[in-house]
Amino acid sequence: MQGLDLLWLLLPVAAYSGYQIGRRGSERSSGERFSRFSQTYFKGLNYLLNEQPDKALEVFLKIAELDADTFETQLAVGNLFRRRGETDRAIRLHQDLYSRPKLSSEQRTIALLELGEDYMKAGLLDRAEALYTDLLAIERHAPSALRHLISIYQQERDWKRAIEMALRLRRGGVEGMEAVIAQFHCEMADAARAAGDPEAARRHATDALAAHPRSARAHMVLGKIARGLGEAETAIRHYEKMAEIDPDFLPEILAELIRLYEQRGDTQRAEAFLDLMMQRDRGVAALLARSAMIERTRGGSEAVAFLAEQLEHRPSVRGVLRVLDLSFPEDAEDPPEAVPLIRDLLRRLLERKAAYRCSRCGFSPRAMHWQCPSCKSWGTTKPVHGLSGD
Ligand SMILES: [Zn+2]
Repeated sequence: MQGLDLLWLLLPVAAYSGYQIGRRGSERSSGERFSRFSQTYFKGLNYLLNEQPDKALEVFLKIAELDADTFETQLAVGNLFRRRGETDRAIRLHQDLYSRPKLSSEQRTIALLELGEDYMKAGLLDRAEALYTDLLAIERHAPSALRHLISIYQQERDWKRAIEMALRLRRGGVEGMEAVIAQFHCEMADAARAAGDPEAARRHATDALAAHPRSARAHMVLGKIARGLGEAETAIRHYEKMAEIDPDFLPEILAELIRLYEQRGDTQRAEAFLDLMMQRDRGVAALLARSAMIERTRGGSEAVAFLAEQLEHRPSVRGVLRVLDLSFPEDAEDPPEAVPLIRDLLRRLLERKAAYRCSRCGFSPRAMHWQCPSCKSWGTTKPVHGLSGD
């Protein structure tokens, strides 16, 4: 743990304990205990400032011993145990704290909330679930309990219950739940597709759209289902809708969409769609697909001229590589000496770049995830655009 975090955590404890001990000190007309306390506290502070959190913890544990009756002190120590990964100690401490006879009901609830955090950190999801379900009864803590329960059901991939909890949060006035609810329905749709049940998948994806009509993912799933069932026109409509809602996801479906247009011989519709997307897409996926169409219908040199003009507005490594490949095909005999070298360099440049990035936490996975594996946000991971992006 960072020393500074620890410091933030303990400052209020130190202040409160100092106040408590100081008060008792004056009651007993003795400054001695307060002075001993202050010395210990500043010694701990010193360790923290020297980035020695383990020694700092020892010191603060001594303070906690001196001040074993104070609820807040014990709370901070339990919190420290948990943050250091010592969940067993944190759980014991919070259970002990919770069972003290003289607590107010507010304090008892706080101890319970801490215990819930311990269970979550320790991966004891069953116990955490039982605890938060009990807490739902206390209206003031219901939103927090619901959020924890959603997090538990997500980890257990129990999407039905995750949806129930999210709906309760929404009924309680929490905004922005629609998008997350749609993601949960889409998870069920993907599971049904993987299990070879496209009709169930379609029901779940339709539920997703009902919950959140502008769910890009729901249209993508519906497109894939329709494509699998050979319903080309329906698939095209869902893919087009997905790209219209969020052009950032275009690279995810473009290859399939182009094949569907080709299957149906819909060249004009394909051209119109790509022209529209080129205006809206921040990447070069639409541009490259459009140049491939030009190459097929009007030849390579027309495609190069088109790309050269477009790349002026949106420079892109992938675009330059395409120009190179069109100008000097890989199987051409006797290309200029520099061509294979430049091609190799451009390819290596692209390989090293992250393909996706989470806009919330910056995590950059190689594959697409609807829920960020790092910060657990939904729908924040997207294909990377820009100079060396898609
Ligand atoms: Zn993230």
